[in-house]
Amino acid sequence: MGGFATTDGDRSDLLLLDLDGTIADICAEPDDAMVDADCKCTLQALVRGDPLGLVVVTGRSLADADRMLHPLELPTIASHGAEVRVPGYIAPVDLMPIGGLRGAIEALVAKFPEVRVEWKPFSAAIHVRSAPELLLPVREAVTAFARVNPAFRVQSGRLVFEIVPAGVSKAGAVGALLQLPGYRSRRAVYVGDDHADEAAMDVVQGFDGTALRVEGEHFGQADSQFDGAHAVRAWLASLAERSAAFGEG
Ligand SMILES: [Mg+2]
Repeated sequence: MGGFATTDGDRSDLLLLDLDGTIADICAEPDDAMVDADCKCTLQALVRGDPLGLVVVTGRSLADADRMLHPLELPTIASHGAEVRVPGYIAPVDLMPIGGLRGAIEALVAKFPEVRVEWKPFSAAIHVRSAPELLLPVREAVTAFARVNPAFRVQSGRLVFEIVPAGVSKAGAVGALLQLPGYRSRRAVYVGDDHADEAAMDVVQGFDGTALRVEGEHFGQADSQFDGAHAVRAWLASLAERSAAFGEG
């Protein structure tokens, strides 16, 4: 790995960072997940040195991502690309809110009392973390649901199935980002741990960038460059230190 914003001739780096399982440890309850204070200081130092050099890419809503990173408000691709706060990025405007399907989704999960629905502005995440034995029947049910609701698709995650607008994905949003002025000349480095990150990593590699995988429930040890979110946090801290030293030098 090269240094942050200092390598590859005059090409600056662009760090694309997933949240859960990548810089935040996975929690049984998604609401309990947080980014620790040291990591927030690291992220702040990185964007201080290069405000366009870092974008958070998450399936969480923008409000939820901001809660985890408070008081930072970083450039963010949230809700799998349905909500985007990045200078110059035009977020999708014609998405169907998930609310119209609320009754139907509640009826679907009523068959599985152990699963929990997390409502987001444009999607519904159906968590099976507390009842992993229901993974297959819940997958079947949400897949059948998406078949009859073609404006939506199923995004699989770690013990979660998310019903998201058909046209949005981390991969699509990252592809659009990497064509924006201010971003397209950068060397992208995507760090992620989950299914939705894989397609985004393919996009980044198509733009001559780098994909770094975090070992966990999706990527195994042999495929991963980091053995957990703790290792990503340590790596980011070393980048921030190097970046600060470079700035001072
Ligand atoms: Mg993740």
